[in-house]
Amino acid sequence: MLSYLAMLTDPEIRIIRSANRRKTVSARWADAGSVIEVLAPASASDAELAPLIETLRGRLLRDKARADTADDRDLARRAAELNREYFEGKLRWSEIRYVANQQHRYGSCTPATGVIRISHRVAVMPGWVRDYVLVHELAHLREPNHGPRFWKLVSRYPRTERARGYLIALGLESEGDDASDRDLETSAAA
Ligand SMILES: [Zn+2]
Repeated sequence: MLSYLAMLTDPEIRIIRSANRRKTVSARWADAGSVIEVLAPASASDAELAPLIETLRGRLLRDKARADTADDRDLARRAAELNREYFEGKLRWSEIRYVANQQHRYGSCTPATGVIRISHRVAVMPGWVRDYVLVHELAHLREPNHGPRFWKLVSRYPRTERARGYLIALGLESEGDDASDRDLETSAAA
């Protein structure tokens, strides 16, 4: 569920040697995609492992790039559906995709440029929560601030309160109507 951007930053390689492993070397993602764990026999030296790790790393990155592209396509398709369902299909944006560098918020919208980013954490949440996040960020295209008009728009999505409860429990949403604006990027800071 990692973004292409995150993929470009080299994942850390963590080698785990085990006496139980005889020959095979395998690799897997760990720490939410920031680390590649290489499982190797206790006897394997770093020099022996280096070429194997390079191959396994390349394979994992290729698989992830393919999966990420598919995820972003699904996200864009869902956003278009929600635009039709709740905004009369009138909203326009320039880009929508998952990113991995948003650990403390579920998404962001830059109304000036029409760029919407959704935390990769949202990709594994229930569909109705992901839909709320999308509706929330889409609504910012029309109402940049968290004022009453913004919440009126968002509440067209019937599971808004339930989804907000879910996100509040995770510390990703604030309580109250004028919830924090940490999902907004209104300046060049984006
Ligand atoms: Zn917001």
